[in-house]
Amino acid sequence: MNFEKLIRTVPGFPKEGILFRDITTLLKDGPAYKALIDELAESVKDEKIDVIVGPEARGFVIGAPLAYRLGVGFVPVRKPGKLPADVYEYSYELEYGSDCLQMHKDAIKPGMRVLIADDLLATGGTILACCKLVEQAGGEVAAIRFAFKITDVPQKPELERYNYQTLMTF
Ligand code: 5GP
Repeated sequence: MNFEKLIRTVPGFPKEGILFRDITTLLKDGPAYKALIDELAESVKDEKIDVIVGPEARGFVIGAPLAYRLGVGFVPVRKPGKLPADVYEYSYELEYGSDCLQMHKDAIKPGMRVLIADDLLATGGTILACCKLVEQAGGEVAAIRFAFKITDVPQKPELERYNYQTLMTF
């Protein structure tokens, strides 16, 4: 399916100079959303995935239906202060400032094969933080899947260590 034509591009959001790729226009299209999840599921069918990890908020929209489709569990990665039990935490640098993500300590058991899923790959900072959280828990990052990748920002070279794929490129 041609997913690109269903993505809305919004110049200047959330700030001047950014071309925001808005996936809500794809998500509201039932057959397209289903086809997107089905294609992602097909791409990991040989990876023996035990559990899926997704960062808030758009990672939930991709990761949760994918978990249902594969019949495995879903683990949310969240901004600080949102998860109620003990957490692992990872802080990382942004262009201006830093960010921090957390995951429940008991969410992943050592040796589990984890799929990390998100809507979009830009620098890779968010997804690498998810990888660090999975590794702190003793999990193995078996695969990383995105719906889309944008190529107008430099990607972190560390991502090359992982098995990652995107369905579309902008
Ligand atoms: P990264 O950490 O790879 O630089 O940025 C990717 C993260 O930021 C993803 O979690 C993604 O949801 C969000 N993001 C950054 N730019 C965009 C964009 O243009 N569109 C959408 N939908 N998400 C974006």
